[in-house]
Parts: sequence; C-alpha cells; structure tokens
Amino acid sequence: MIFILKRYYSDPWLRNLDTKILSQHQEDDRHLVVLEETIFYPTGGGQPHDLGSVNGVSLIDVFEKDGVVFHALEHPLQGDDASCVLDWPRRLDHMQQHSGQHLLSAVFHDDYGYRTESFHLGEEYCSIDISTPSLSNEDQIAVETKVNTVVFSNLPLLTYTLSPGERGKVPLRKIPNLDADLRIVEIQGLDYSPCSGTHVSSTSQIGLVKIIKSEKYKGMTRVYFLCGDRALRDYGRKQEVCHNLGSLLSVPEEALHERMALELERKQELEKKILELTNELMDLRAQSIVAQGASPFYLESPNATIEEARQLAHSVLNLATGTVIIRLGERLVLAHNQADTLHLGQLIKEKA
Ligand SMILES: [Zn+2]
Repeated sequence: MIFILKRYYSDPWLRNLDTKILSQHQEDDRHLVVLEETIFYPTGGGQPHDLGSVNGVSLIDVFEKDGVVFHALEHPLQGDDASCVLDWPRRLDHMQQHSGQHLLSAVFHDDYGYRTESFHLGEEYCSIDISTPSLSNEDQIAVETKVNTVVFSNLPLLTYTLSPGERGKVPLRKIPNLDADLRIVEIQGLDYSPCSGTHVSSTSQIGLVKIIKSEKYKGMTRVYFLCGDRALRDYGRKQEVCHNLGSLLSVPEEALHERMALELERKQELEKKILELTNELMDLRAQSIVAQGASPFYLESPNATIEEARQLAHSVLNLATGTVIIRLGERLVLAHNQADTLHLGQLIKEKA
C-alpha cells in the first residue's frame, strides 16, 4: 500500500512543491509518474484535474486509481527529485466554481427544497440540474441575491472527515450509500456536503456568483452559472457589447432595449414596403417586356436573384402566353405556361 500525501487537500493554496519520485512507467504514449506528495488534484467529484509541470515537463492528465495519484506526462523524468509547479489560475478557477456550486445548491435546497441531481464544471460554463420542472425568474433572482449575500458574509469553508458512526452529527445535504469515512466540506453552519474536491477557504474567495440562464432539462431545470473571475470576465464582455451597441445606436445603455425594439419594428415595415415596390416594379417590367416582343421572351438580368427572376417570369406569364428565359450570369431561369415543350431544348441550347 503506497501512502501519498495529498497536499491539495491539506493545503489547497500551495502552488509549488519539491518532492520525490516514487515510481514511473510508460502506458501507451504517456508516462505515468507517482510522487511522494502531490499538489495536483486528480479528476473526481465533478471537478476536472489540475494542470502544471513536473521538472518542466507538462502534465497531460492527473487521475486516481485505488488511492494512488498518477501524473501523466509526455516525457519520462530523470532522477529521483520532482519539482512541481501548479497551473494556479486553473486551480483557483475550479475552486471558485466548485465552492460556488455548493453554495448555490445549498440555497436552492434550503429555501425551495430543490435537490441538486448533477453538477458540470466545464471550460466555459458550470451548471447544476435541480429537481424542479421549472424555475421562475423571480425565484432565480432571489436565489442569486441570497447566494451573493452569503459570499459577502465571508463565511469560512471547513473540510473534515466523518466516520460512518459520526454522520448523524451534521445535517448532510446529500447522504451517499457508501459505508466508509466521508470527507465533508462545510460552509460554516449553512451547508454540509460530502465532497472530494478542492475549495476556497471562505465564501468571499468565491467572488461574484451569477446565474446566466436556466432551462428545462429532462423534467428538471438546468441552471447555468459563473463564479469569481469567470463572472468578472463575462461582465466585461457584456459591458463591451452594451457599450458598442450604445455607440452604434447613439443611445444610453438603459435605452438600448427600447431602441432595438423600435429599430426591428421599422425594419419589418421597410421590408414590407420593399416587397410591395418590388412587386410593382416586376409588373411594370413585365408589361414592358410583353409590349416589346413575343414568346419566347428572353432577357438578361445579371444582378437579379433567382427569386426575383422567377417573380419576373411569373409576371410576364400573367400577361402573355409562351416561354420566358432569364439569364442571371451563368444561370438560366426558364418558365412557360403552354404545352409548347417542342422547342424548349433548342431554346436552352441557344441561350446557354
Ligand atoms: Zn463538491
């Protein structure tokens, strides 16, 4: 039995570590290294693995098997010493999202009785599926407000282990079936969750928690949210969009919605007007074509769209009997309203 000191649990803020290599071996095209101690969190509990480097060689993956943490590297390591450097922005991001999720799930549970059925921590966004078929906008805002109030309250996050006999000591939000010791992450006095992830030390370190949308999902509701730096970056992006739109339309941010609604209404009216004028124009052109010649009517209209050419042909055939051929650059539109197919092949050959 190998004992590995999991420093990501005992000191989740540790970014560098010098330790010893216990073993390494090749598996497929990567090298799996086991270290005496590690700061690299392996994939688990809904949280993706850490990245970073060991002796300057980049980590591809970190996973745990039978209690042993394996570090997958592109190249083998030399010697016995390992100098580890953690990709700290990635880890801090994961801790902010994961702790934020615990808090969000706790408020949904305590205030509305909604259970969190699953948690996704992705590159772009995080989501939880909660046990309600729908979520009103008012409730969503109320939850978000409460969550951020707890963030600003700077409550400590505590981690400890409970034996099966000690479980009754705390009101667990989710009780697993496992009959083993449980690692508990507590938002002090507010939430007690079995969890194997890494977490911030206090709710204020989660930063802003923003619910960006919610939608129905398999009889539940999927709630998308961003925490900490992700929320800040998202705010920056949205600020830029609002600023650019405001500059474009020359209106202040708060008038954007009303102005856009007006612009869309105006656009629809203009499109309607354009359609009416196009119909009138086609009729006039058709009258002129019919007045100047006889079937087969042939004309070149290189700038027209296929739809416009079809409309024109239709207008001509409303006024005359015969065949219409309209050339649009390389393409031909052909229409007729009599059973005079005898010469159509010949006509196309001539005009093609
Ligand atoms: Zn967790």
